[in-house]
This record gives sequence, C-alpha cells and structure tokens, in this order.
Amino acid sequence: MLDVSSLAAATSVVPGRSCGSCTLCCKLFDVPEVPATAGKWCRHCDPGKGCRIYDTRPQACRKFFCGWMVSPGLGAEWKPERSKMIVLLHVAGETFWLNVHVDESYPSAWRRPDIYKRLKQIASSNPAVGNRIKVVVRVQIGRRHIIILPDRDIDAGLVTADEELVVTAREGLVSVQRERRQVTPLRAG
Ligand code: SF4
Ligand code: SF4
Repeated sequence: MLDVSSLAAATSVVPGRSCGSCTLCCKLFDVPEVPATAGKWCRHCDPGKGCRIYDTRPQACRKFFCGWMVSPGLGAEWKPERSKMIVLLHVAGETFWLNVHVDESYPSAWRRPDIYKRLKQIASSNPAVGNRIKVVVRVQIGRRHIIILPDRDIDAGLVTADEELVVTAREGLVSVQRERRQVTPLRAG
C-alpha cells in the first residue's frame, strides 16, 4: 500500500529540485497581481525560459511551489514541463486531496500509462471506509473535473466558477455532486 505521507505537501523544496526551464504554473494559474486568464501564458513569461520580471515578480509567484517541487514521492516523470500537468496537494479535514491540473493543450496527458497507473495507485492507497474518504484524486482539465477512484473514474463534467465539487462516501460507495457554492451574506451595520 502506498504511503500518501510521501506525497504530503511539505513546506520545503526537495533537495536537488528546481524549476529550471519549466514555466507551466505561469500558464495554468492566475496570479492576482498579474491580470491574466488561467490557461494562457502570463504576459511576463518567456515560456520554457522563465520570468522576465524575476527580480520583481509578485509575492504569490515567490511563494508558489508545485507538488512536484515539494513531494519526494513524485518522481522525474511528474515534472510539469515534462508531464504537462501540475499536481497540488492539500489536506481538508481528514481527506488528502491530490489535484492534477492538466495543461489544456495536452488534455490527455493524465492518461499516459505510467501517470495513470500511478494515479490509480494513489487513489487505491486509502479507499473510502464507511462514510469517510481518506484520499481524493481529482484531475482538472480547465473546468472539467474527473475523480479517479480505485475501480472507476467519475467524469463530473464542467464545474462553473460558482459551483464546487462535493465528494462523499456512504458505506464505502463514493459519489460526486456539483453544488452551488455557499455565499455568506454580508451583514449590514
Ligand atoms: S510548475 Fe512547478 S516546477 Fe514548473 S515552474 Fe512552476 S513551481 Fe517550478
Ligand atoms: S509574474 Fe513571472 S513568475 Fe509570476 S506568473 Fe508571471 S511569468 Fe510567472
């Protein structure tokens, strides 16, 4: 059984790892300080080379490390410029989430046999027990979300900006729903 702690989002970079010529996070994610559209290269990026404003780049860029940079459990084949996807890891409550953000220019990248086998292996490492889900593996290709389970994949379709994906388990059976985000009303006075 795979120990997901080897994938855990550590706070420090794995020794020997560096971005090098990878710039994929400058395409897949929005940076608030740099108005842009996720999925398009940041206007300051020289793809495959680096940031043109490196010395003065925003704080968000300085602090960001993708899952490959901080997880010794993800090998060289997961480096984003090679795999065409960025893994982000987080823990919510008792559930460990492995989010795989796929470059839309390579929408099948997650199906590459070695990558897909590993995703299945991770999804199988701690299956749902009773009403509790210990590991969720989610693939995101733009707004399309796919949940990888040990025995099947669930394509949740397009999740809009005002929706969220809710993954639940009942007696070990996992189901996925899109739900409207809860908006907390502002209180006057
Ligand atoms: S995706 Fe990861 S490896 Fe690539 S530039 Fe961003 S932080 Fe570096
Ligand atoms: S400002 Fe630089 S580091 Fe930040 S997203 Fe743009 S190119 Fe990347």
